[in-house]
Amino acid sequence: MSAVTDDLIIRAERIVTPDGIRSGEVRVSGGRIRSIEAIGSRGGSAPDAGGVAPRTVVLAEDEVLLPGVVDTHVHVNEPGREHWEGFVTATQAAVAGGVTTIVDMPLNALPPTLDVGALRTKQSVASGRVHVDVGFWGGATPGNIERLAELHRAGVYGFKCFLSDSGVEEFPALTAEGLAAAMREIASFDGLLLVHAEDEAVLEAAPAPHGRDYEAFVASRPGEAERRAVELVVETARATGCRVHIVHVSSAEVLPVLAAARADGVRISAETCPHYLRLAAERVPEGDTRFKCCPPIRDDANRELLWAALRDGVIPMIASDHSPSTIEAKMPPSGDFGAAWGGISSLQLALPAVWTEAVARGFGLDDVVRWMSAGPADLVGMDDRGAIEAGRLADFCVFAPDEEFSVDARGLRHKNQVTAYDGSTLRGVVRSTWLRGERIEVDGEPRGSLMERGASR
Ligand SMILES: [Zn+2]
Repeated sequence: MSAVTDDLIIRAERIVTPDGIRSGEVRVSGGRIRSIEAIGSRGGSAPDAGGVAPRTVVLAEDEVLLPGVVDTHVHVNEPGREHWEGFVTATQAAVAGGVTTIVDMPLNALPPTLDVGALRTKQSVASGRVHVDVGFWGGATPGNIERLAELHRAGVYGFKCFLSDSGVEEFPALTAEGLAAAMREIASFDGLLLVHAEDEAVLEAAPAPHGRDYEAFVASRPGEAERRAVELVVETARATGCRVHIVHVSSAEVLPVLAAARADGVRISAETCPHYLRLAAERVPEGDTRFKCCPPIRDDANRELLWAALRDGVIPMIASDHSPSTIEAKMPPSGDFGAAWGGISSLQLALPAVWTEAVARGFGLDDVVRWMSAGPADLVGMDDRGAIEAGRLADFCVFAPDEEFSVDARGLRHKNQVTAYDGSTLRGVVRSTWLRGERIEVDGEPRGSLMERGASR
């Protein structure tokens, strides 16, 4: 018998593993999963090899053990715009939502993460204050191409860029030439480029967004803008060999382009977001700017095509794009979609929002785990998490998939308690969140770690 002592056993009737959903005991030692065994196969919780008896946690009949959610698209905004969102509140919302790892976007904090100094500033602000693990993306803008290699070596997981106005002046977009230059540079060290793919020329030619009519806002950001931008990214990735990822795919016009590129061997992946999968343009109330995001939430027919792309693997993962602002910026009294901040706050609600719609379409929790834990972990190369499997970190979400709840924004833990989901009924309640084999509480001690690409863990 092994001399290693398990310090925790979680027993559950349903454990979502890479090989399917099974009953069993997950045995944890030193914060890692040591084995998954049949219930009772070791005679309960007797001590191993003369050690102390492990603590045994038995899940309720209506609970399922999932790996913690990995959310690779979160805007924390601190330092500089911590009145929008900060490391404490964002990671507390993560705990409440079953999310055990987030990767922070390089823009909306000041300074944006465009060089090693800015990365170190963020890390020092976050240090000791995060309730879940936090990694960082860098940014690629016209001014910092020569800084990308050192940022890569400093531990960012990749680089985000825009092809249209980012919404903040300190994070300018790349031109087509700039995109090619960034991709050549990033390919030279085999890094990863994330692209906000909306084509500036198409957006400029579209009617300007203004007023309270949501359809007019959608018309200002047509699907063609996404498709044209993705076509450019595909061409440039093909020419440079750079690995690329399209963030927050909203328009189904993008899907055939993605599928063809992948079939052709282009190194491209993509994500979509809970709001594109749950919400629909037809049901956005007039003047309700809580629903504004870029690219926009589109119609029901488009939404079903996104679900089909998840089914087919054309879109392999989901991330929240949690992008809060102040309540004043998000909800101007005019209700003008042109004036409001674009961004949906959903870090805490991503899992139930996706599950609610997934189960209605016949998907299982194993699918949701593939999209929200394994897929995102794979994107950033965090091969120590994202699945319940021997050797991985004991990061868990205990989830009650059949229980419904009504969203009350005032109960959410992110900083500005506004969300497009307020008042809606979602299915699936996060009962507890576990990090390294310890149950973590929203108001408990911050136990998260700051993650760096390539660091030994
Ligand atoms: Zn974003």
